[in-house]
Amino acid sequence: MITEEIIRNTSQNPNICYQCGKCSAGCPIRNYMDDSPNKIIRYIQLGLYEKALNSDTIWLCAGCLTCSTRCPKEFDLAKFMDALREIALKEGIKVKEKNLLKFHKAFLNQIKKHGRAYELGLVREYKLATGDMMSDVDVAPAMFMKGKIGILPHNIKDRKGMKDIFEKTEVKIK
Ligand code: SF4
Ligand code: SF4
Repeated sequence: MITEEIIRNTSQNPNICYQCGKCSAGCPIRNYMDDSPNKIIRYIQLGLYEKALNSDTIWLCAGCLTCSTRCPKEFDLAKFMDALREIALKEGIKVKEKNLLKFHKAFLNQIKKHGRAYELGLVREYKLATGDMMSDVDVAPAMFMKGKIGILPHNIKDRKGMKDIFEKTEVKIK
């Protein structure tokens, strides 16, 4: 049962959400999503799992935590979205948004390798995976100048510990 799996993986119960909508009102990505973030919780509350798992909302969520910090019930919606992504992958549900899964994998690979985000590695891996080498190259110089992209990664001390976490928890994609 998916609700139990979410509770087990996140230590949170989606049924505590009373649908006030404060999370969605503050979500910076809301305008690009099919369904509002609180609607995804509602789907789960009603047992409409297919609707939740097939919504592009769970993939467009940037994990920014705005919703989690605003929620009067202290429901960590960002963590909930993570759990849904993981379940969707395990269930073999296709991601509708073009290249989004490639971006997701490229991002997680940086965390696995370096222990934190490494933007240049992310861009390189994503571009190689998609074959889209030229888009956004015009913004690269400004990003370098402003220090938004570093040449070298800033590795955490315990990289082996991070790799172990991934090995124990990584979802095998169907
Ligand atoms: S802010 Fe919290 S209680 Fe309100 S709809 Fe969002 S998750 Fe539910
Ligand atoms: S964590 Fe996701 S759902 Fe929550 S505010 Fe950020 S983008 Fe929106």
